[in-house]
Amino acid sequence: MEEKDLNIVITGHVDHGKSTLIGRLFYDTGCLPPDKVAEIERISKEHGKEMEFAFLMDHLEEERDQGITIDIAHTFFKTEKRRYVIIDAPGHKEFLKNMITGTSQAEAALLLVDAAQGVQDQTLRHCYILSLLGIKQVAVLINKMDMVDYSPERFKEVSSEISDVLEKLSITPTFIIPISARSGDNVARSTEHVSWFDGPTVLDALDRFSTSEAEQSCLRFPVQDVYEIDGKKVTVGRVEAGTLKKGQKVFLLPGKSTGIVAEIMKFGEEDLKEAATGECVGIQVEGAEPERGAVIVDEVTSNITDTLRANIFWLIDKDYVPGAPLTLRCATQSAQGVIGKIFRRFDPASAEIVERDSNTIKPAEVAEVEIKLDRPVAVDKFSDIPELGRFVLEHAGHPVAGGIII
Ligand code: GDP
Repeated sequence: MEEKDLNIVITGHVDHGKSTLIGRLFYDTGCLPPDKVAEIERISKEHGKEMEFAFLMDHLEEERDQGITIDIAHTFFKTEKRRYVIIDAPGHKEFLKNMITGTSQAEAALLLVDAAQGVQDQTLRHCYILSLLGIKQVAVLINKMDMVDYSPERFKEVSSEISDVLEKLSITPTFIIPISARSGDNVARSTEHVSWFDGPTVLDALDRFSTSEAEQSCLRFPVQDVYEIDGKKVTVGRVEAGTLKKGQKVFLLPGKSTGIVAEIMKFGEEDLKEAATGECVGIQVEGAEPERGAVIVDEVTSNITDTLRANIFWLIDKDYVPGAPLTLRCATQSAQGVIGKIFRRFDPASAEIVERDSNTIKPAEVAEVEIKLDRPVAVDKFSDIPELGRFVLEHAGHPVAGGIII
């Protein structure tokens, strides 16, 4: 069976080689149509260069801006293992909003650092964004190794520089790889230039990452509703993570009462043995009385809390007014609350921290906040189980912010 697609972001300081790497990845995996290859060759020649992959991205972006053909957000390259979808990267205006509101979700990141220049301003900001989104699978690519004579010493220097930065943000890079995106060293294959390096190529590293669903072994079944059918109570919902099994002992959160899954049914299908992530089913729970908003789990690994620490994206045109009552909705749960503390405000457009210990949030800003609720809810970290780690805040019946739990 082919594996699920993996969504990745490619990030790094301007000119450190993102476009070149993307072009190289498409080219080396044979995912570029021949006419595009011919076109890059032609344009490269016109500019007196051998093969300038950055032109491919410029070209695709131009087409996208004109609304012509390919939307790069939906293009992918392929290895034998699976397809990789490159989603909009930090630097694009909508990136953070899309990530936080769940429109798109990156499961892994490639972070480029120029071997000659080392860590730069935007490298730092992009590291911060990766940590803000809780992306744990990060491969650092020390690029343009050809410009430093493929020096193992320089590779070590830049590796430790970037590792220090990431460590402060609690990110441990899964891999650090010396590459040349332009020449293709260590992208799809190792070459004699980098034979001193015994780690993976970029494609190998990507293939070793896991998709978020594969990691989700814990059951999360938020209760949508409870119906009475022929005198039987049927609890319906969608399996957001893990697998629901007949005969399994379950806990109902936040109260932690227990029950047994006596029956699993689907429209037209009775008595199923199990239901997988993404399936909408009705179940009968023996020994417990589920209600709308409960979260059914197999082990109590969720956080049951009335205080959430989260990054929120402020969606409306008006500033946040301190103390304004809010409704939090997470999966099928809802609770009343207020924003207690604003630890910092962050402007995604400039990728700068605007203010620490603030008391307001302005339109289109991201803020790290503490939310106080009037009752406990069952939630997960966004990086562990996105569906239970993402929420919407409403004020007077309208969504005002999207958030992720950190
Ligand atoms: P981006 O701004 O991060 O997308 O960077 P680009 O991919 O546009 O690359 C910026 C410049 O660096 C271009 O002129 C590329 O040809 C050059 N470049 C990218 N990768 C390499 C590399 O591995 N070696 C060398 N020598 N130049 C590179």
